Amino acid sequence: MIRSVIVLGGGSAGFLAALTLKTKLPQLNIMVIHSKDIGIIGVGEATTVALPKLLHGYLSFDPGDFYRRVETTWKLGIRFLWGPRPYFDYTFGFQLDWKWANLGKFNGFYCDDDFSYVDTQSALMSHNKAFVRRPDGSPMVGINNYAYHIENQKFVEFLHQKALERGVTVRDETVDEVLQDDAGIAGLRVASGVVRAADLYVDCSGFRSTLLGKTLGEPYTSFKSSLYNDRAVTGGWARGSDEPVKPYTTAESMDHGWCWQIDHLDRINRGYVYSTDFVSDSEAEAEFRRKNPEVTSTRLVRFSTGRYHRSWVKNVVGIGNSAGFVEPLESTGLAVICDESRLLAEALSDADCHPTPSLMAAYNDIFAREWDAIRFFLAIHFKYNTRFDTPYWRACRADIDIGSAAAVVDFYRENGPTPYAKTTVLGTNDIFGMEGYLCLLVGQKVPYNRAHKPTPQERLLWRGIQAENRVKALTAVDVADAYQAVSAPSWQWNTDVFRV
Ligand code: FAD
Repeated sequence: MIRSVIVLGGGSAGFLAALTLKTKLPQLNIMVIHSKDIGIIGVGEATTVALPKLLHGYLSFDPGDFYRRVETTWKLGIRFLWGPRPYFDYTFGFQLDWKWANLGKFNGFYCDDDFSYVDTQSALMSHNKAFVRRPDGSPMVGINNYAYHIENQKFVEFLHQKALERGVTVRDETVDEVLQDDAGIAGLRVASGVVRAADLYVDCSGFRSTLLGKTLGEPYTSFKSSLYNDRAVTGGWARGSDEPVKPYTTAESMDHGWCWQIDHLDRINRGYVYSTDFVSDSEAEAEFRRKNPEVTSTRLVRFSTGRYHRSWVKNVVGIGNSAGFVEPLESTGLAVICDESRLLAEALSDADCHPTPSLMAAYNDIFAREWDAIRFFLAIHFKYNTRFDTPYWRACRADIDIGSAAAVVDFYRENGPTPYAKTTVLGTNDIFGMEGYLCLLVGQKVPYNRAHKPTPQERLLWRGIQAENRVKALTAVDVADAYQAVSAPSWQWNTDVFRV
């Protein structure tokens, strides 16, 4: 019977896990142990729609309060400077697997030449707007179609405060020794010599994986054959007062990897993710600075990509970087943390806090599949990017292992951008869905048989759809104005919309 939980780690994984467990199971005694001396990773700024849903739905945090304290801006999708097109957008509007009335084929077939303005989100992105207007002129803040840009440090401070308010005990102390017994972990000895013990230990110690990896010795699978990158150099600059805030993350191809751009209200942050098999740290930094002369100071972050075989072993559950990690190309770090925290809380609740071995096995299976699906979805970004002809990109195209994604690509090559493989070749734990694959394959112009030559009437209809999206964007609200409107205490939130 689980009555008490220790969460080791006070980064975004630790606090999100503690808050989610406490919300679902208020009777649990939950303690977060973190160490200011060790600190948090401090990167992780772009999210997916999973985060707003968890924060404002499951955890019922008032969005206005959140915006004011964390200074959140919105992310409508990712603009890829990638492949042969000048750019393409992967939005949370998801329209490539649809057919518009009067058009014979799915939308992807009409994007061969022009992949712009395909949905409202991509039109808003092109005009640096966040939301279309309601009839009264105010921003129409929707659900399911936006994520956040947040600075990791501010976000973690917010979660820390919320955890205290909700009755979680938080201790700033460093764990020096881990005690073991047959159940797994028997206690954590902190620097003062005190031993802290609980029925369940949630390992959120980041890349150290102190309990799951180091102490229990769970085997680790590297994703290196699919994802070559192992470093990031990050930096940024203060935003100029007349520069619009971009409502999307940019992913720009670089000589030996790619570079993100994330816009905050007062700052623009960039990070070059690269592989040390192809470039030295100093050469990567030189390329980063050459292409971003505004960057002030820089920081180097080392990482490895992969996952532990199981994330729930004995009385330890790993959540966040301690259980698995992939590079941030699709901002999946926080998304997986939301899934892990929520499923753990639901599973414990359904089991009346008596988890069985088969329940733990099911939990492990779900996340092993989720991580593997993310690995191979990311791999197709590298395998099919034809933009540059450097040794790094040549090696990606020749050798990257796309694993289970190969079946989806084969289907696409044979049938074109149709979504029918959704229930056959696509795994059930794929968080991107068929529309994610279609976007990446069409966006990168991966060739397929059975190309469709639109009739003049179809061309006209398609242009009409693009024009309609453009008009909506022209009159929409930009990020700074939308932030001002919805962060005002007088803004009326309908938080029921998040309860999905
Ligand atoms: P950490 O933040 O490292 O926290 C670990 C915690 O454990 C700390 O509180 C530390 O003090 C504590 N701890 C460790 N050992 C001990 C000990 N012995 N005693 C006491 N306390 C201890 N994710 C996204 O969703 N979007 C992104 O855009 C994104 N960008 C990223 C860019 C890079 C370059 C990297 C590397 C990651 C990125 N991520 C991103 C991932 C994201 O940063 C993490 O998934 C997320 O912040 C969770 O981190 P964490 O809480 O697992 O670990």
